Amino acid sequence: MKRIWEYISVRAEKALSIKQVMSFAMAMLGFFHLCLTVFFSIFGIFPMAAMDFCSVVLYVFCFVQIQRDKSLLYLFNLSYLQIVLHSVIAALLLGIESGFSLYMIAALPIGYYAAYNFNMRKQVINPMCYVVIAGAAFCFLRVASSYMGPFYTYGNKALVSAVYMVNYFVAVIAIVLFFSTLLNQIKYLESQQKNQNKKLEELSKTDALTGLANRRSIQERYEDSELLQESYAVILADIDDFKKVNDTYGHDAGDRTLKAVSAVFKNAVRGEDIVCRWGGEEFLIFLPKCTGGDAANIAQRILESVRVTDMMTSEKEVFHITMTLGVSTARLGMEFTEVIKEADDNLYYGKHHGKNQVV
Ligand code: GH3
Ligand code: MG
Ligand code: MG
Repeated sequence: MKRIWEYISVRAEKALSIKQVMSFAMAMLGFFHLCLTVFFSIFGIFPMAAMDFCSVVLYVFCFVQIQRDKSLLYLFNLSYLQIVLHSVIAALLLGIESGFSLYMIAALPIGYYAAYNFNMRKQVINPMCYVVIAGAAFCFLRVASSYMGPFYTYGNKALVSAVYMVNYFVAVIAIVLFFSTLLNQIKYLESQQKNQNKKLEELSKTDALTGLANRRSIQERYEDSELLQESYAVILADIDDFKKVNDTYGHDAGDRTLKAVSAVFKNAVRGEDIVCRWGGEEFLIFLPKCTGGDAANIAQRILESVRVTDMMTSEKEVFHITMTLGVSTARLGMEFTEVIKEADDNLYYGKHHGKNQVV
């Protein structure tokens, strides 16, 4: 009961699939026609009872076929036709007051919805086909029933009103289920899209090889710092003679080295710092609220950790690498690019003065 309520008030976690919706609809329709069979048998309206019994058989057949994954379009059309014919015949036999014509109104949005779903499954059908059939049937039974009196009567006026109301509520339930399925589907698709956008956004800010942030995300963080007017430091680090690593041990070992260096960086920094893959074998660390002295200490720690980290070839051969790191801090009035340029100049200086050092 709780689940049904969640579903019709569009708070369900997932929308039902078209197969589930159709199975449910066939079961409900079969049960409804079984009730009508009993009702019309009691009142001796045997043509209606016979028609409703045939409808029960039809819906059992449709239900079974759906479970066997037979063409949903074909089964939907079959049941749509049954609803139209049943409404017309019931309205002619029992009169328009019986309320069976209401199903021709409930059928319209359902036809549209079904056509949309079938078109998504590349079973092309124009929703106007359903609209025209239901509309023509509604007009026909309206006109015909005003010329032909009801052929059967059952009970007193109160019972006729009760039958009308039952038909009204069944039609309303069909419309409610239709809208809740549609809205639950929209809601589910929206949440799926949101998740996908989130994933794409993360991917667009992440380096595929190392899993580190890329340049774009550091730019965003820097913009935040500028808004907050907070001080920050940057470390620009470059692996020494990395070309030789690739040439000697292979590109694969080079990639593994980049990952190992990334891990060293991540371990060395604080939670609010950002380690970013700046270029091929160049890394940039963004250190918010950090003094030049602290940044130099962190850089020194990284330098020593990298030096002692065992790098591994695919043949499990161990080798070691070194790095050169340039440090810079943002001073009043300095642009982000100027801070980076200063760190890069320091790195350049280190590269030309023996490498393997912090400048
Ligand atoms: P220096 O000490 O002056 O920095 O010398 P270096 O050899 O490290 O610098 P250089 O710029 O000459 O070479 C960088 C090399 O990094 C060249 C390039 O093939 C390699 N590289 C860049 N990106 C990747 C990558 O994603 N994987 C691997 N395996 N190698 C990469
Ligand atoms: Mg290098
Ligand atoms: Mg380089």
